[in-house]
Amino acid sequence: MSDATTFPLTFEHVPSTSARESAEREAILADPGFGKHFTDHMVQIDWSVDAGWHEARVTPYGPLQLDPAASVLHYAQEIFEGLKAYRHADDSIWSFRPEANAARLRRSATRLALPELAEADFVESLRRLVSIDSAWVPSAPETSLYLRPFMIATEAFLGVRAAQKVGYYVIASPAGAYFATGVTPVSIWISDHYSRAGRGGMGAAKTGGNYASSLLPQAEAYEHGCAQVLFLDSEEQTYIEELGGMNVVLVYRDGTLVTPQSDSILEGITRDSVLELAEDRGHRVERRRVSLAEWRDGVASGDITEVFACGTAAVITPIAQLKGDGVEIGSADAAPGELTMSLRDELTDIQYGRRDDPHGWMTRLA
Ligand SMILES: *Cc1c(COP(=O)(O)O)cnc(C)c1O
Repeated sequence: MSDATTFPLTFEHVPSTSARESAEREAILADPGFGKHFTDHMVQIDWSVDAGWHEARVTPYGPLQLDPAASVLHYAQEIFEGLKAYRHADDSIWSFRPEANAARLRRSATRLALPELAEADFVESLRRLVSIDSAWVPSAPETSLYLRPFMIATEAFLGVRAAQKVGYYVIASPAGAYFATGVTPVSIWISDHYSRAGRGGMGAAKTGGNYASSLLPQAEAYEHGCAQVLFLDSEEQTYIEELGGMNVVLVYRDGTLVTPQSDSILEGITRDSVLELAEDRGHRVERRRVSLAEWRDGVASGDITEVFACGTAAVITPIAQLKGDGVEIGSADAAPGELTMSLRDELTDIQYGRRDDPHGWMTRLA
């Protein structure tokens, strides 16, 4: 579906009358956790078939009024994004490759039969919210303001078709350092009877349904003492795809980085960036199918020296061990890999403005 609006949207601002006092806000920012606290404002933009995108506004944060027949509640026509705002040493506030999130939101929208939002409007929605709630961007090392844009079908209609009324929103949540006590490698559980997405499904779209289907296997992972699930391809259960919300990269002894390629994997912006940094350093990068057997044999022979997961929330998480029914690859107490950690440092240095940004990845928000 195309967007009837061709000019950039103008945002109204309805200030909150119940914004938190600075003492309360500072207490939250001292220990924000993840996804628990929200800033004083939010963005809302309406869309309808007839009017296109309209009524862009920053409003007080608060509950949405949804008709109980809103089709998102029944048929899960929903997509989202996740990115962070980083406070730099001079107090300016930046985001990392927001145009890539805008492009991915448009791809997800196409798959879910939702309207596309123009890149300029997407970036402006972040800029408006972060400017108004800039005091909510924490300053301690590795902290950020997590931004969650999302789009839902709001039309009150139980017939099954693409909704003719849609809402786009952005909420923001201060985020503490993911690894408060230093980066700790994790164990991963191989899900051998559930898959995340199949051929022609929604695996490449960032949509809540993919997360709903990952929750039961995720609970299994916890039962086996693992932090995350590794999903295999749905047809053969042979090739590795990704974790519930993070991509996977394998590092070979000769310095090659390999990441699974498939139509059912969500293309992470963190993964893309990390692989580009590795290429800058002269590493070879391969995007191709990778079987579980290749991982197992490579770790056993020493050909695979490091494995990590990556995504916006934790940036890079080293994977120490892979466990499954009758399978154990690697050891739970393995130390983080050297390349893993140096790529992590390089990327976070760029994000926090501690190092040059040769690719022009950073966009100033406030
Ligand atoms: C968001 C997401 C990722 C990571 O993407 P980033 O852009 O790096 O944050 C990976 N896998 C899934 C399923 C995701 O939803």
